Amino acid sequence: MKERKILTKEEIPGLTYDELIEHIRLSKVNSDEYEGLFQIMKEELILREPTINYSCVKCSHDKFEVREFRASGGGLSAFFDIQSEKYRVICCMRCKYSELYHGKVSPGQQTLDFLFGG
Ligand SMILES: [Zn+2]
Repeated sequence: MKERKILTKEEIPGLTYDELIEHIRLSKVNSDEYEGLFQIMKEELILREPTINYSCVKCSHDKFEVREFRASGGGLSAFFDIQSEKYRVICCMRCKYSELYHGKVSPGQQTLDFLFGG
């Protein structure tokens, strides 16, 4: 007896990043069931995206650079480059303070292109 409504807007802020991305993905397929939620989810994603309206937490500078790297578990997984964890570093260009973000999907830009692009 599962309720038909997949998600309510009150639940959106509590979603994990991965869940949010997944719901946005689903909303592209089942737009009827996500009626009115897409915009809210989009805003929520923008809110969480560190490279949008970036401001350094240390010095409030607004210019940054992004580096990505992978950390693998070592052993065979390192050799075959499987199961490697992807990280993104947002680095303030003024004071070099860096924030570290973990993400399976190449985060940020790709997702945003997917949302805002055609
Ligand atoms: Zn800074």
